[in-house]
Amino acid sequence: MTDGERVETHCPYCALQCGMTLRASNDLISVEPRDFPTNRGGLCQKGWTAADLLDHPERITTPLVRRDGELREATWDEALTLVASRIKDIQRRYDENAVAVFGGGGLTNEKSYALGKFARVALRTRNIDYNGRFCMSSAAAAGIRAFGIDRGLPFPLSDVGSADTLLLVGANVAETMPPFGRWLADQKARGGTLIVVDPRATPTAKQATLHLQPTPGTDLAIANALLHIALTEGLLDKDYLAERTTGFDDVRRTVANYWPARVERMTGVPVADLEAAARALAGAERAIILTARGAEQHAKGVDTVTAFINLALALGLPGRPGSGYGCLTGQGNGQGGREHGQKADQLPGYRKIDDPAAREHVAGVWGVDAASLPGPGVSAYELLDSLGTEAGPKAMLLFGSNPVVSAPRAGRVTERIESLEFLVVADFLLSETAALADVVLPTAMWAEENGTMTNLEGRVLRRHAVRRPPGQARTDLSILHELAARLGVERGFPEDPAEVFTELRRASAGGVADYHGVTWERIDAADGVFWPCPDEDGPDTPRMFTTRFGTPDGRARMVPVEHRAAAEEPDADYPYYLTTGRVLAQYQSGTQTRRVSALRKAAPHAFVELHPDLAARLGVADGERLTVTSRRGEVTAPARLSDAIRADTVFMPFHWAGAGRANSLTNDALDPTSRMPEFKVCAVRVERA
Ligand code: SF4
Repeated sequence: MTDGERVETHCPYCALQCGMTLRASNDLISVEPRDFPTNRGGLCQKGWTAADLLDHPERITTPLVRRDGELREATWDEALTLVASRIKDIQRRYDENAVAVFGGGGLTNEKSYALGKFARVALRTRNIDYNGRFCMSSAAAAGIRAFGIDRGLPFPLSDVGSADTLLLVGANVAETMPPFGRWLADQKARGGTLIVVDPRATPTAKQATLHLQPTPGTDLAIANALLHIALTEGLLDKDYLAERTTGFDDVRRTVANYWPARVERMTGVPVADLEAAARALAGAERAIILTARGAEQHAKGVDTVTAFINLALALGLPGRPGSGYGCLTGQGNGQGGREHGQKADQLPGYRKIDDPAAREHVAGVWGVDAASLPGPGVSAYELLDSLGTEAGPKAMLLFGSNPVVSAPRAGRVTERIESLEFLVVADFLLSETAALADVVLPTAMWAEENGTMTNLEGRVLRRHAVRRPPGQARTDLSILHELAARLGVERGFPEDPAEVFTELRRASAGGVADYHGVTWERIDAADGVFWPCPDEDGPDTPRMFTTRFGTPDGRARMVPVEHRAAAEEPDADYPYYLTTGRVLAQYQSGTQTRRVSALRKAAPHAFVELHPDLAARLGVADGERLTVTSRRGEVTAPARLSDAIRADTVFMPFHWAGAGRANSLTNDALDPTSRMPEFKVCAVRVERA
């Protein structure tokens, strides 16, 4: 990048993928916001400071190999030769599945695709999954069950700004994706109604016309109650139900048991508020329901999302202009990362790995025998929990993830990682997980690589490199290319992301997430391309489900779902709920944002948010250190008093490691379908430290 040059790209962090321009001046790269359809010139503090890390003194710029217990600098040849020889040795002593791969929801589509292919073709292991499983897998599973297709938002984000009624469930967009607030402001300016369901009076909830503040883990009952009210008041769209859905009769029988007074007792949400919410949704010409992690990160996350989808379908919203149901994806490429084969049970194009036709198609593109492709592996937490066990993997290659901080029951996950015979981490900073590795491979950052990301709308975007990686750092594609060659697979792992994307397009052709007609040139010529887009000369799909759903008969499937208690409810020993989430100035496991000085100043450490009434009961003052204990671990952090939270619940952000690691406490109970862990609710004891 020459001095004064400007390159258009996107923020590296969340799924809003705000447009930004990078500008070079005196060897420094600075960020400017860019007018793009999702952020309309806005950026949050994380985006503004994203370039601060490019030349951060803690960037890893040389391969590191553990010798005498210490990570020491090594050449690429030494590091890669060691990795290849240890992989071969471990696979020879055990079997191919003894080597696992763990990816990340921030990897580009090209890298996600290449990683999935590397696992199946170069390693021939079934053991691959990624941290996106912890993000929106429940909504993905519910979307597939109901609509036959999982795309976060099946409509452009701009629809949100013109919704007459918007229902946000467990979504704190004011802190997680602040430029989204511009759409909320539009919606409010047009006289729209905003309803927020959240156990905390978050900055988002404080903007709401109506805030429903339920007991953690009871969102499903609220959805069923809203449908019950709409049904009894004759507010359903009967024509839509008859023409576009199946299964309503079973749902009707189920929600009959969710009369408002009963649900008030289950959730703590007053009957009048439930009725007001149902009427506002049903009476709106344009109504949108959006769920996020608050609804999804539960052992019943799929059913909770299903309950809100049932509500949306009964009101005739999906596919109606300006209306719909959507899931707010969290991680930057959480959407694309789950479409191209990083998930244990999937092949590119959102194909199922146990579908013979899908295996034949992808094997044909990869030039291998379909019979050689492994079958499905286990989900992210199950994979992490099996590491180093007799039947589990003995080695792991990890790209762009930090499960030591981000996984549930993190103390146990850390022990499992430590029990591995061999751990390789590819990253650009020494995360807490990388610090445990036998080999650390330095990678390029977002501004040093080309590729594509798919945002929360299913819009495929271009990421542009503005400079070369520093020192000896390499792109992940280059690392996979070199490693595959050392494992005896000389062809099929190009370093050039354009070449990888061309192959990805062919591999996805005919699949649910069809990228065949998406080209880099086409993305650059417009503001991205929405999948499915099967033909280069044909249209893309900003709005889905306008005439049919992705099910075999084209109708959406309604599935009756019952509320059930959280996997762990408070009791005499652990009398309070713990819920976890994010804060404005930090992102995910904090590997990056904890190293940005402005963000560190804004949010320097973990804290325990609790209601003043609870604090008084415990004799705790604001700022006093608290010990929070669950059946899985203990953390210590200062108290932050707030009347924004229920008096029976404490909140902790999950961005920090060490004594303030919230995930030391969280429950590893999994949703039976999505295998999503129950991050959002567990039982804890709170004491003065
Ligand atoms: Fe980046 Fe998300 Fe902030 Fe936009 S909202 S600047 S994408 S972190």
